[in-house]
Amino acid sequence: MEEDYPRNLLEFEARFSSEASCIQYLRALRWPDGFICPHCGEPGAWATNRNLFHCVGCGAQTSITAGTILHGTRKPLQLWFRAMWHITGQKYGANALGLQRVLDLGSYHTAWQWLQKLRRAMVRPGRDKLSGLVEVDETYVGGKKPGKRGRGAEGKALVGIAVEDKEEEGIGRIRLWHLQDASGANLVPFVKGVVQQNSTIRTDDWGGYNRLAANDFQHVVIPTKDLKLVHLGAALLKRWLLGTYQGAVRPSHLLYYLDEFTFRFNRRTSKSRGKLFYRLVQQAMMVEPAPLPTLKGPALSFLKGESNLNLDPLDEDRDHNI
Ligand SMILES: [Zn+2]
Repeated sequence: MEEDYPRNLLEFEARFSSEASCIQYLRALRWPDGFICPHCGEPGAWATNRNLFHCVGCGAQTSITAGTILHGTRKPLQLWFRAMWHITGQKYGANALGLQRVLDLGSYHTAWQWLQKLRRAMVRPGRDKLSGLVEVDETYVGGKKPGKRGRGAEGKALVGIAVEDKEEEGIGRIRLWHLQDASGANLVPFVKGVVQQNSTIRTDDWGGYNRLAANDFQHVVIPTKDLKLVHLGAALLKRWLLGTYQGAVRPSHLLYYLDEFTFRFNRRTSKSRGKLFYRLVQQAMMVEPAPLPTLKGPALSFLKGESNLNLDPLDEDRDHNI
């Protein structure tokens, strides 16, 4: 399907001036080949005057947002569209206070929940794995004292980083994950989860990576100082967390922030805000609903308590002096 999106604010305002226009847009993204009933799987529906789709097969009525990240919202779609337009227009990321102001939402908490929901849509379900030549490392974010590799550190969270090396073309796509620790038991599943098997993985000589070759990867060990791509990724991530969120990241929410960073990083060369908007709306239609309890973050029991990560600009890791 041809990518169809507004190119600027004027086009955005003109295009999404009604609920009906938003529904039409979502419909094309959710059902590019026409309506498919989520209940019976049959095609074909007529629209009711309450903006529902009435299945011609089983008679069930479905809203355009049912079963998506926007499931059950009572707010106008126009407001959600504005939220997505705002978020994709922020070069470094959106925060809840900014979103609350732009949308004139009564509650900061609502703005915060909206952002968390939309961050979930920043990762495409079933996204492609990285492939080819991929550099992998881990880095700590947060905390005042340097962390020891392989062990947890108070107030810090360990992030796994995988970056494609496109050689002459430069740096490729990135994938991040919140790791429990730097043991092979965590690093190998991380790599398998984000990189296609038979790819070449470049790491330093940390023992946690020893089992990569046994897991169908070509494993190349190089000196830590030569892991240039992952070090650049780590530096940008830390700067971004610090600059955009000023340390206000809870460890149990870290994964969502990593998703937002990934979304922005992998589309950093895209000049078109409309295209990012298109991608976010499209993915919002593909991601399952997020009831509130799961928005509190995945269970990361190793980080006891919910104090914010201390994102100290002077904090440098062990050997990530960047
Ligand atoms: Zn049906």
